[in-house]
Amino acid sequence: MFTTTNSTIGFIGLGNMGSGMTKNLQLAGFNMVLNDVRREAAESFIENGATWADTPAEVARLSDVVITMLPTPKHVDLVGLGANGILSGMRDGGYWVDMSTSVPEVLEIARANSWERGLHIFDAPVSGMSVGASTGMLQIFAGCNDDEFAMMRDVFHAMGDAQKVLQVGAPGTGYAVKLAINQLWFSHLVATTEVLAVGVKAGVNLEVLRQSLIASPANSNFVENDVLSVLQNGDYDEGFAIALACKDLGLHTELARSLNVPVEMSSLVEQIFRRAKAQYGDLAGEMTPVRLYEDLIRQALRIEVSV
Ligand code: NAD
Repeated sequence: MFTTTNSTIGFIGLGNMGSGMTKNLQLAGFNMVLNDVRREAAESFIENGATWADTPAEVARLSDVVITMLPTPKHVDLVGLGANGILSGMRDGGYWVDMSTSVPEVLEIARANSWERGLHIFDAPVSGMSVGASTGMLQIFAGCNDDEFAMMRDVFHAMGDAQKVLQVGAPGTGYAVKLAINQLWFSHLVATTEVLAVGVKAGVNLEVLRQSLIASPANSNFVENDVLSVLQNGDYDEGFAIALACKDLGLHTELARSLNVPVEMSSLVEQIFRRAKAQYGDLAGEMTPVRLYEDLIRQALRIEVSV
């Protein structure tokens, strides 16, 4: 097993998610080697003892396990397989675990190009938002075999909630689980917002409507908890950019297409998210589609917070 005394972890992609995950790996006691196109993102970790590497290949040369946490499959491809990429620096038998929300193709190519080197290359994407990354309470969905999962135990537990660190199947299945979660959550967001907008327009008090939904068979975690971020605080969660939400919705639709499964509703939800992205910008928060409906009814969906 990789432990704090016998292993060095390389981490590439120190953004909203990667910075919190790196913080928790460092707090757990792992030696860290870091890379990002924004060197400044690594400064505070270097002050605490982490090592900077100029290229992904250099990260791989200096590490036992390389973790990537990058925006899109294109970035994973570039960082993993490009010139000075991870693959060119990995030691025989080394580990590369991609924790980005992505699709299997890039890692499949990496495995196919290196089978004789005994490399361990698999997906372990996460759920739990930037707050889960920062508090070390992520859900992790590892697409790997039993030995690989056991090797990664301490590393995963430093970043995730031990009860929610799951081995979900063969390589690629972690991505499929993650895309399913995001697709369903975004579908909940659109469906919930539609009925809230209509109900409010019909004259129902927003909180009365929400409580009625909670008490009914139509309840969901979104109605009960997640929507409160907007309703109470006007917070559309800029910790996850809508551009990345659209990326995930697109990847889910592509996965469905490649499997010959028609997904009409998923496609509609994707288009609604793309409309919100076009209207409010790439960096707007993932819950910004709620604003589309607020603009339609010319009223913000807000409830009073009692103190
Ligand atoms: P982000 O854009 O905040 O961070 C990405 C980081 O990658 C940035 O620091 C960027 O500089 C770096 N980067 C980009 N290209 C690079 C390259 N070529 N070499 C090195 N570094 C590079 O994104 P994020 O929100 O942290 O999301 C990362 C991944 O996690 C995405 O796949 C996303 O879908 C997924 N995810 C995000 C959340 C969330 O709430 N933010 C939750 C679960 C999963």
